[in-house]
Amino acid sequence: MLEITNLHATVADKPILNGVSLHVPAGEVHAIMGPNGSGKSTLAYVLAGRPGYEVSEGSATFGGADLLALEPHERAAAGLFLGFQYPVEIPGVSYLQFLRESLNSQRRSRGEAELSGGEFIKLAKAQATLLGMDAEMLKRPVNVGFSGGEKKRAEMVQMGIMNPKFAVLDETDSGLDIDALKAVGAGINRIMRAPEKGVLLITHYQRLLDYVEPDKVHVLRAGLIERSGGPELAHELEREGYAEAAA
Ligand code: ADP
Ligand code: MG
Ligand code: MG
Repeated sequence: MLEITNLHATVADKPILNGVSLHVPAGEVHAIMGPNGSGKSTLAYVLAGRPGYEVSEGSATFGGADLLALEPHERAAAGLFLGFQYPVEIPGVSYLQFLRESLNSQRRSRGEAELSGGEFIKLAKAQATLLGMDAEMLKRPVNVGFSGGEKKRAEMVQMGIMNPKFAVLDETDSGLDIDALKAVGAGINRIMRAPEKGVLLITHYQRLLDYVEPDKVHVLRAGLIERSGGPELAHELEREGYAEAAA
């Protein structure tokens, strides 16, 4: 479903990804772990098409199509969802407005009818309830004054509404207390655990993987996949740290 081959990328002319190859088939959740500064967020940004992240070599295909040739909004319309380590704040735009416009612009790109205001509110409320979030919060400006946990729950509400084919989630567990962690983990499983979907879960710690069990775990170091294994690899890293696991 997502096929990354020998991907090299630079940021400000500095090589960060040095030949990443990764294949996530439909129906699987793959975790990417690795020490700070190894290029995990860079990989997520390259997949998102963020300006300033230059691909110098290699390829990435999504459902067989050349992902890197698509504009960021086209990637989203194709069913790719990206959740970032540092969610943006958008003062002056309510979360509901933002979600409705995001959903409807994706639907327009796919030639589908827009949802009416009423249909949209019903969908948003249902998703908020599933995430244990008060839908009233979504009337506030996007992420402004939200706690870490609220931002991540809201991001899962967004993911539930978009119902993507594939999600790349960067440190979705950072700064979450145990209740938020459980809610977010359950959200990922409910929305994304399906035979026709896939997830790339970027995380430092085992703890989110207690709730979202990965099919495969990859260790990224210095812009390269250094090791791959099953869920037990995450436990080994948690026990022994990255340095020991490399030895
Ligand atoms: P991780 O998410 O694994 O902690 P990142 O992908 O955020 O790692 O960063 C990988 C490397 O790229 C780090 O050395 C970081 O300093 C560098 N880097 C990231 N963004 C920039 C930038 N805008 N300019 C220069 N270096 C950057
Ligand atoms: Mg980091
Ligand atoms: Mg990062």
